[in-house]
Amino acid sequence: MKDTFKHKGLRQQLVNVLKAKGITDANVLNAIGKIPRHLFMDSGFLDHAYQDKAFPIAADQTISQPYTVAFQSELLQVKKGDKILEIGTGSGYQTAVLCELGAKVFSIERQQELFKKTSKFLPKLGYRAKKLIFGDGYKGLVDEAPFESIIVTAGAPFVPKPLLSQLKMGGRLVIPVGDDVQTMTMFTRKGQKEFSQEEFGEFRFVPLLEDKN
Ligand code: SAH
Repeated sequence: MKDTFKHKGLRQQLVNVLKAKGITDANVLNAIGKIPRHLFMDSGFLDHAYQDKAFPIAADQTISQPYTVAFQSELLQVKKGDKILEIGTGSGYQTAVLCELGAKVFSIERQQELFKKTSKFLPKLGYRAKKLIFGDGYKGLVDEAPFESIIVTAGAPFVPKPLLSQLKMGGRLVIPVGDDVQTMTMFTRKGQKEFSQEEFGEFRFVPLLEDKN
């Protein structure tokens, strides 16, 4: 697991690309400038690691495009110590970004193969999520609720009710909603049953599937 000056240089270029695309949160840019994304990918794709593109990982899943990771992370407005639930651990790259931002991260993955792989890999890089869970993200994580924010990193055909009800007052749910194409949507909890809703354009994710595998 090597991280060289060449990788660092490529990462800085990626940060500049993200700035040019409109990402402004200095902490998010700093996290992306620090995390060795190439180590989250299969060796065949190492050369592509610092392009602003999604790439295949195990179990027919993808590591999200850096712009998408940055965009969702920025919407969360993470403060140190925030308790955050991530749905779709995948490669663990987004998890690592949240750890860099100082969050206490809980992350759920439904594919056992990825869950196992990423559970071993993240601590090797020094990223310690509070808990990685093999389970169905549609249900959220009632035992650890409420959360300052919840981030869904797969395309949801609808907004799962448990996720809304597991938000703290003032908490945010950032979720791409739709079938083939998703609209990035943010819900902010305003009251027991009141939520405000904002939309932020179209993205494409692998689907949020029910149950675990
Ligand atoms: N955050 C990841 C993105 C991975 S792609 C990264 O940075 O690499 C989305 C992930 O969501 C896949 O790993 C997929 O298996 C997972 N997923 C899909 N449906 C799920 C569900 N119901 N619960 C938990 N994870 C789910």
